[in-house]
Amino acid sequence: MRNKRVAVVLSLLLVCATGCAGGGKPVDLATVDSVERPTPVGVQENPAPPSTSTAPAPTCDPQQSLRPLSPMPAPGRMPARSTMKAIQDSGKLIAGVDQNTFLFGFRNPTTNALEGFDIDRVREIAKAIFGDPNKVQFKVVTSAGRIDALKKKQVHIVVRTMTATCQRWRDINFSAIYYTAGQRLLVDRASKVTSLDQLGGKKVCAAEGSTSIKTIADHKANPVPVQVDNWSDCLIMLQQGQVDAMSTDDTILAGMVAQDPNVKMAGPRFTDEPYGIGIPKGNEDMVRFVNGVLAQSVAAGAWAASYERWLGRTGEPRPRPPTPRYRD
Ligand code: GLU
Repeated sequence: MRNKRVAVVLSLLLVCATGCAGGGKPVDLATVDSVERPTPVGVQENPAPPSTSTAPAPTCDPQQSLRPLSPMPAPGRMPARSTMKAIQDSGKLIAGVDQNTFLFGFRNPTTNALEGFDIDRVREIAKAIFGDPNKVQFKVVTSAGRIDALKKKQVHIVVRTMTATCQRWRDINFSAIYYTAGQRLLVDRASKVTSLDQLGGKKVCAAEGSTSIKTIADHKANPVPVQVDNWSDCLIMLQQGQVDAMSTDDTILAGMVAQDPNVKMAGPRFTDEPYGIGIPKGNEDMVRFVNGVLAQSVAAGAWAASYERWLGRTGEPRPRPPTPRYRD
């Protein structure tokens, strides 16, 4: 793939050198071939692990959330003094999302609107509060920025391919699980690699602050973790031959396969990544409300329609919505 691209660039330069240089000195092709491809901003090879991830992980059931509010309040009639009432009075739900993850949270280039499976969840919550799915202010957050945005209450919720973990439960609340993804590999179409075991000493890309980068860094085969800000940066580095693979949730990788026929997902899932909606600590009423919205979405078939719309064509077997686990 890389050689083919270099050949294309070289032939274009050759056309230019002969066709548009107007008889000037020909381009020195040897020099052109040795030009370093630029790397994305913020890229770091073998980053030091964040201090929070070196401490022993607390034990808990990260998939267990609070029982839904019952009965659920009608849209526009949030209970007095609740977090939802404050949101209703403010006129908009502020949601932390991604804009680079095709199928989950991405900007539709023709409409400029944010769309995807995660964005559908945000709109359901806005509709349940206001009776209007458009009363939303989206704030784009990176993987590494999710917890901070919630702790600083810059957003009311984060819906961004976010795995509920015990480590994260220390800082934020999670809703019930609304999707279960799993980490896999993305490689060049021609690659024979099917496992991280085969990538010892090789560069594997993932986003800072994700569970994926930690799984790569902790792997016994010692792959070299390459950390970036956004998942799309990993795809570019893979396309340019700057990393040997990228590795994260199959949901995110499915979006990349849909965009680039030169890459493929390889090997089986090797982690479970149960997605929860992040909500600030202290806003437990909002957790119960969101869990009510998620349950209604599943019961009404909206979850299944949203799955069909975004993930129905990925060729994966259709999953059932996760069965929620509650504690009081
Ligand atoms: N689900 C993983 C996580 O929450 C990776 C996906 C992401 O970071 O966007 O860390």
